[in-house]
Amino acid sequence: MPKEENSITVELNADIFTQKSVRLFIKRDDLMHKFISGNKWRKLKYNIEEAIKQGFTKLLTFGGAYSNHIYATAACGKIFGFETIAVIRGERREPLNTTLIFAENCGMQLKFVSRDLYSIKHLSNFTDNLVAEFGSFYMIPEGGTNALAVQGSSEILTQNEYEYYTHICCCCGTGGTMAGIIVGSQGKSNILGFSVLKGDFMKGNVVKLLEDYANSYNLQSPSFSNFLIDNHYHFGGYAKTKPLLTNFIADFINEFHIPIEHVYTAKMMYGIFNLIANDYFPKNAKILALHTGGLRN
Ligand SMILES: *Cc1c(COP(=O)(O)O)cnc(C)c1O
Repeated sequence: MPKEENSITVELNADIFTQKSVRLFIKRDDLMHKFISGNKWRKLKYNIEEAIKQGFTKLLTFGGAYSNHIYATAACGKIFGFETIAVIRGERREPLNTTLIFAENCGMQLKFVSRDLYSIKHLSNFTDNLVAEFGSFYMIPEGGTNALAVQGSSEILTQNEYEYYTHICCCCGTGGTMAGIIVGSQGKSNILGFSVLKGDFMKGNVVKLLEDYANSYNLQSPSFSNFLIDNHYHFGGYAKTKPLLTNFIADFINEFHIPIEHVYTAKMMYGIFNLIANDYFPKNAKILALHTGGLRN
């Protein structure tokens, strides 16, 4: 089981922070579990609780062949005794990559579908066919993001943390983690999301998730405006990288001895360092970067 108490916060020290009079802290949610990324656990936790409550024995979810969410769902299925099924975007390619080998070793059934079919997975006859093939299951959306995931992510930070830090940074894939952080903030601090995808749709995703969350918990739509999404640090798009980012990762690990990777956390860290260098943060800012995990051995 992932251990939330294993997540520790450390301060990073470097000349640039002294020069700019800012402090940078990193919350190591990557330390919560070896196989389940910090934020993937937060997002799965209430979904698993709900699946148990409703008496399901199978979990079904969706993702790309390199998805951390597929990996985490497979691991959770094994820990909590669920059968797991993943609908994977694209044809099966042998040999399978390490994510999918791990998933199969956890007992997950992989169903590969063409990109065209995958793109219509939200349609009800697609779901009907899945039920005909696998029997009834608890469905978790792609990336694990739904209202229960937002609820789980709203518990990543405590009220003390929201009060102490002037800025809280996270990376955004679906935006579910960020939506949860915004819900948890109750309007405190400044939440800064770094999109790891190319394009400027992430803010729309987050706003929609906040609305869905409010609807499913019968709350008034939160009117928090203490958040901002930076779309400048995608380095070409999802899972893409560039020498600039690769070099940054090597330097960062060498300097701070904290692992980061190119799909998620390195893009955020690069963005934070770049914004500090460009005087984005006011003097005496106390910045918290959330390390969502995404590393595996
Ligand atoms: C999935 C993932 C994210 C993105 O989370 P979203 O809630 O989809 O925005 C960020 N960091 C890591 C390490 C992840 O695995």
